[in-house]
Amino acid sequence: MQETTDTPRDDGTVPVQWCSWHKGMAVSRPVQIIEQGEGAGGTLYACRECRVTHRLEVLSTFAAWHALFNHLGGVEGIPPCAPCNAFSPCPEGAGLWATLRREQEADK
Ligand SMILES: [Zn+2]
Ligand SMILES: [Zn+2]
Repeated sequence: MQETTDTPRDDGTVPVQWCSWHKGMAVSRPVQIIEQGEGAGGTLYACRECRVTHRLEVLSTFAAWHALFNHLGGVEGIPPCAPCNAFSPCPEGAGLWATLRREQEADK
């Protein structure tokens, strides 16, 4: 579980990466972990255009959604967050929202 501070991460200034879909350099985000074969454990990046074309989900954005949903809906052993569900986000919930917004901005 990552800390929910307001410290911005570098996601908005994603460096140019090799896009594994159109095979070229572009501002890209991580979309897939290589599971087997050569390069297993590595990460594949895709630029925005390829993400739209191939409906690729950015890993960190998905993780941010997931963390927020778990916080709002609860998971085994952890009840749904009452303040957040009453639309007055607790500090943790506010941090999760901020993270998600930051990821979505970086996806644009
Ligand atoms: Zn691409
Ligand atoms: Zn909360």
